[in-house]
Amino acid sequence: MELVTDEKIRTKVLRSALKEEGFKFDSWVRCIHCGRPFQGDEMRVFKEGDSHLVYCKFPKCDGSIIDIVDADDEDFTEMFDS
Ligand SMILES: [Zn+2]
Repeated sequence: MELVTDEKIRTKVLRSALKEEGFKFDSWVRCIHCGRPFQGDEMRVFKEGDSHLVYCKFPKCDGSIIDIVDADDEDFTEMFDS
């Protein structure tokens, strides 16, 4: 499994994966494995054989796209103030 760093491929994979799960590309989500929030387009994309896998933003977390929940209603403004 290798990390995809090509922005075009990442974007394409993320868009369709997020859409499939009912999320918007730039919506806030929360990973239920590590409990941390991030935006949909910050998730990591891996290539394995012919398919792509989408994982939690944080490298030490093994949460995948099926482990994220919608966090768009939560208020994250404090994260940017500090
Ligand atoms: Zn996580």
